[in-house]
Amino acid sequence: MHRIARSLLLLVLIPVAIAFAGDEHITVAVSLQPYATIVKMVGGARVNVVTLLPPGADPHNYEPKPAIIKAFSLAQVYFTDGSGLDKAWLPRFMAANKKVNVIDISKSIEWMKLEHEGHGLHGHHDDELDPHIWTSPARVKILAMNIFEALKKLDPEHFSYYVTHYGITQDFLEKKSREINEAVIKMPPKSRSFIVFHPSYGYLAKDYKLQQYAIEVNGKEPKPRDLSKLIQIGRKNETKIVFVQPQFSKRAAQTIAKDLGAKIVETDPLSADFAGNLQKFIDALKQVGEK
Ligand SMILES: [Zn+2]
Repeated sequence: MHRIARSLLLLVLIPVAIAFAGDEHITVAVSLQPYATIVKMVGGARVNVVTLLPPGADPHNYEPKPAIIKAFSLAQVYFTDGSGLDKAWLPRFMAANKKVNVIDISKSIEWMKLEHEGHGLHGHHDDELDPHIWTSPARVKILAMNIFEALKKLDPEHFSYYVTHYGITQDFLEKKSREINEAVIKMPPKSRSFIVFHPSYGYLAKDYKLQQYAIEVNGKEPKPRDLSKLIQIGRKNETKIVFVQPQFSKRAAQTIAKDLGAKIVETDPLSADFAGNLQKFIDALKQVGEK
């Protein structure tokens, strides 16, 4: 009697144990908040995400806190964007987690040079490459594809779960891409440009046929001469949008916007609210087209 009860118990327990192992989450580490959002879009409830850069922190001068290094030590995989930021930080993080699987999610993304030099730490393989690949939905589609490919290999039991979430993610990015294209077409051809303090939208500009003009010069506040040069460019192009970002000064942007009769729009490309920031960008373009 006892023996039968025990075998029954085992029969019940074994499938439970297997199911439990299969339901373990994957702990993924990423550098920036928007990457965390994109990983969660594709990985849904299957992933725990550790983000190296806390909300509001500036990657251009960042020092990792011990608590973040500790959280990183639990990660099974690190999704790198292959940027200079990762090149600078990763050895320190890897010292706390030698087993972490490093996967490059920027694979097949064509990097471009930054128009302004001296970007510093978060530059790419060399400092001249523009690291801001996550601000363009067209590039995020590639990031999402690489994330999907990696997750389905790491967690093949939940293949169909990832297929569903990846599909929703791509539909969303496709929709936003269309919205940008439609907004750009409605802008007067002459005004298809924007000014931004820190050049965070270079890929977005390139992918959707816009022109980006940065206020910052070599990572610093512009000199009066630089300002007047930029105002002239803005006048010539009838630029109607000036983007500012919370990590950087707004003073020069205000001077320029006032002169051009342009609207100042605050977006935060480093925030986790990837969709919200993208929407603000699209709405700013739409306003120019409606005028
Ligand atoms: Zn930057």
